[in-house]
Amino acid sequence: MAAFDVARIRQDFPLLARKERGHVLAYLDSAASSQKPQCVIDTIAHYYREQHANIHRGVYRLSEEATAAYESSRKSVASFLHAPDARGVIFVRGATEAINLVADSWGRAHLKPNDEILLTAMEHHANIVPWQVAAERAGARVVVCPITASGEVDMAAFVKLLSPRTRMASFVHVSNALGTVNPVVEMTRLAKAVGATVLIDACQSASHFDVDVTALGCDFLCFSGHKVCGPTGIGVLWGRPELLDQMPPYQTGGDMIQKVDFAGTTYRPAPERFEAGTPHISGAIALAVALDYVAKLRPDAHTYEQHLLARATEKLRAIPGLRIVGEASEKVSVISFLIDGAHHHDVGMLLDADAVAVRVGHHCCMPLMKVLGIPGTVRASFAFYNTEEEVDRLATSLVKVRAMTSR
Ligand code: PMP
Repeated sequence: MAAFDVARIRQDFPLLARKERGHVLAYLDSAASSQKPQCVIDTIAHYYREQHANIHRGVYRLSEEATAAYESSRKSVASFLHAPDARGVIFVRGATEAINLVADSWGRAHLKPNDEILLTAMEHHANIVPWQVAAERAGARVVVCPITASGEVDMAAFVKLLSPRTRMASFVHVSNALGTVNPVVEMTRLAKAVGATVLIDACQSASHFDVDVTALGCDFLCFSGHKVCGPTGIGVLWGRPELLDQMPPYQTGGDMIQKVDFAGTTYRPAPERFEAGTPHISGAIALAVALDYVAKLRPDAHTYEQHLLARATEKLRAIPGLRIVGEASEKVSVISFLIDGAHHHDVGMLLDADAVAVRVGHHCCMPLMKVLGIPGTVRASFAFYNTEEEVDRLATSLVKVRAMTSR
């Protein structure tokens, strides 16, 4: 792994130098949120120091410059996603808002009684609850595709559950709880073949490898900026512009209108139609910088993360009483696990005592935990800025935890 200079990359991330209890913090929670490189932090400070004005409505130079920077970020996001037209890029707060927008707006326009919305058992709550609400309003039904014992989508069941009643198929590209990479090209092709509209939740894939909406063939795709080295409070909904233009507004107000009259109001096309009010200008600008930073490290960063995953998997498998949850053949660098006789919360707290930061709980996937028959897991997730030494610290700490809890 000499090719990937992780020591140099870590210098870009000031927070990774943080010390806790005499140790440098081992931050193994990037699936929840990634740390930020200096270029992103600098972009935000520079924006407020030198560039800030409200966008779109100004006739003066500063506002025009801020508008140009914001709109240029839209183009950067389009090229990050290989989208042919930047009009399909809507800036939102994050994946949660993106899916709510589609479920509400697209749902109101298209869902009818007895329609079906096909999800998988490994969805994040953000890709379940908005569909439950939309289904209830329309008299439609949420249908759930099961998963296999190794934590993969049961493709035979997926095929069986698709029918002309399937109006929407919405599924995760990569599971945040298991790390499973789903065969989304095939899933999209199958769903489109029965006439369904397809949304892909790319929250956990955009941070690891290239996501190409043209190659995927989906109708909507979303991700959150804060998981891809960008700021919190900014994310992306990408949609086919022709679909977006037919959808009713999600929120209304300034900037999204063509003409307002008390006799009636008309709306602008996408993307403005879905960006009511003053947006997160600095967030959008810094997101483009983050995406550029991440894209430049590809594909080596992904190869390196896979190396960390293999090392961690081997070390954790060697610990007696430790069970890895989710053993799909294709995974990103996420490992969920349980230790016999130890509550996952206690494991997380004991790791914290060694300055190893992991996430514990249901990971916003309560239906998945129910299917697996467990209350939650411990989840370690690795980014390209993590090191072999951090993987080893996790394993050493877990051996200690195991010794303490198996007495
Ligand atoms: N989907 C997946 C797969 C996720 O991992 C997350 C975040 N954990 C979300 C959706 C929601 O993202 P956000 O909280 O940034 O809106």
